[in-house]
Amino acid sequence: SSQRTKVVRCDVETKERQCYATQVKRNPNFAKLQAGYLFPEIGRRRAAHCAKYPDAKVISLGIGDTTEPIPSVITDGMKNKAHGLSTLEGYSGYGAEQGEGPLRAAIQKLYAKISPNTGVKPSEVFVSDGAKCDIARLQMMFGSDVTIAVQDPSYPAYVDSSVMIGQTGLYQAESQQYSKIRYMKCTPENDFFPDLASTPRSDVIFFCSPNNPTGAAATRKQLEELVAYAKRNGSIIVYDAAYSIYITDDSRPKTIYEIPGAREVAIEISSFSKFAGFTGVRLGWTVVPEELMYADGSPLGEPFPVIKDFNRVMTTSFNGASNIAQAGGLACLSDEGWKAMEELVGFYRENVDILVSALNSVGLRTYGGENAPYVWVHFPGESSWDVFSKILEKAHIVTTPGSGFGPGGEGFVRISAFGHRENILEAAERLKKLFA
Ligand code: PLP
Repeated sequence: SSQRTKVVRCDVETKERQCYATQVKRNPNFAKLQAGYLFPEIGRRRAAHCAKYPDAKVISLGIGDTTEPIPSVITDGMKNKAHGLSTLEGYSGYGAEQGEGPLRAAIQKLYAKISPNTGVKPSEVFVSDGAKCDIARLQMMFGSDVTIAVQDPSYPAYVDSSVMIGQTGLYQAESQQYSKIRYMKCTPENDFFPDLASTPRSDVIFFCSPNNPTGAAATRKQLEELVAYAKRNGSIIVYDAAYSIYITDDSRPKTIYEIPGAREVAIEISSFSKFAGFTGVRLGWTVVPEELMYADGSPLGEPFPVIKDFNRVMTTSFNGASNIAQAGGLACLSDEGWKAMEELVGFYRENVDILVSALNSVGLRTYGGENAPYVWVHFPGESSWDVFSKILEKAHIVTTPGSGFGPGGEGFVRISAFGHRENILEAAERLKKLFA
């Protein structure tokens, strides 16, 4: 009706025009979200820069997307599966929502290879379309009544999914934090590991190692401390191991389940995205140990296994990862596939070395890199967005402002080592020139 037609800003260019509005109220949690997700904002600034300098060769070391082709031993697995789908014998429709048996078993073997003591069983592995999607599904499972803690800075999906599901209060402009979320500061001063003694209890602790954005990988001792803290407080850790394959230092665990007792307090999420360039293919997994229990939930108010609820989430709101992607995952975990992934990761590690030595040669202090594809560059006293703008304007390089990952990232810029070699070399030269 005409009474529902108002002049509003309702398109992306925010031009005013007539538009019809339904009678459905917007979810108020979405109104709490700040200015758009970080990476779309960077994309907008990049687009504006390209419009301003149409001839500039812009190098993107921002979003953190992989750039190198997937090794053919891995794509062959997907190719064969795809062709098989055109045959009577090879066709399959819906599969198990939790993932195909052979892939779950191969992921279990991966854990067993890392350490004989992880205790992960194939039935505890849930194959998915990626870690980000699993973060949202875990939030759906926890619901709006839990409190969460995040590392500050951290990968934005933990905080934003928490806001969407209604676990938070409003955004506080002054502190740049949402109320009800505990931000655990991770800075060079504390070796990028939070001061747990002064961290009030939360129900769920999101912990990412190797960390995006700081590149810091927690030591065994630090993770023992984290598990002990969770146990003392009766908290659940959601451990994001999406970059575990980048760990070079053996004293840093590749999975939280290397830590005794973790099975009672930790869920682990991981992904093929940064292992094998599967950011577009989409494949990840989540491990929920049988020992992990809610305080209540059984008919007599007894503890209830978290795995049962996560299984319910997967069967209700997910219908299994693409069978073609799963064939790719299985190929990744074959001996040749694993070798090819290590070579791919080795290539990105060399990129890290090129960037780090360039930055250090002009006196910039860098962190991360050693066990992660990200270099965390310190610009003490400067604003992250100012540094981001300066690097874009003067060197035509897209980075990520540290403050986009939380207030604790202010004064830093994240540089991703995902890039073609010639771009990384060119970026290194431009950065040296800019900061010389
Ligand atoms: N977790 C972390 C820490 C990430 O940095 C990313 C992607 O950048 C993801 C999860 C998302 O992974 P996926 O592609 O599997 O959704």
